[in-house]
Amino acid sequence: MSILPIRLAPDLMLRQKAKRVKYFDGSIQKLIGDMQETMHAAEGIGLAAPQVGIPLRVIVIGLPEEEDIVLLNPQVVRKTGERVVDESCLSIPGYVGEVKRAISIIVKARDPSGKEIRIRGEKVLSHALEHEIDHINGILYIDHLETPDKLRKIKPTKTETET
Ligand SMILES: [Zn+2]
Repeated sequence: MSILPIRLAPDLMLRQKAKRVKYFDGSIQKLIGDMQETMHAAEGIGLAAPQVGIPLRVIVIGLPEEEDIVLLNPQVVRKTGERVVDESCLSIPGYVGEVKRAISIIVKARDPSGKEIRIRGEKVLSHALEHEIDHINGILYIDHLETPDKLRKIKPTKTETET
């Protein structure tokens, strides 16, 4: 596995709609492994393939003390509720912004072997899923800011919730 360079805004790779994964082959397994390693090395809690320059619908989520979640071709089935959360992004270092996210979410996807799965996310997992699924649609959290003052500059240290 290797650590991949992370694309930073305003890189255009972050703004395109990523393509569906069709083949669950060795090259996808390698990409998944590299993405997990890159996410953990950057101390992020989530990463989408376009952030490492690959325009495919692959996301990984790694919450502290939990097993990584790997989703291919994820689709939101249902979102419930709404709340304001502080979010940051490995592609927009040094900032945190207030955005509205669902309270819970149900997502269907394929696992790395191609099997269809459904997962339900609440709390941090819910907004991490929304954030990463946004990434594969070319959307960044800063697009959801109600006003520019909802974005704050933070010290150039890592936060626990960068995705
Ligand atoms: Zn992000």
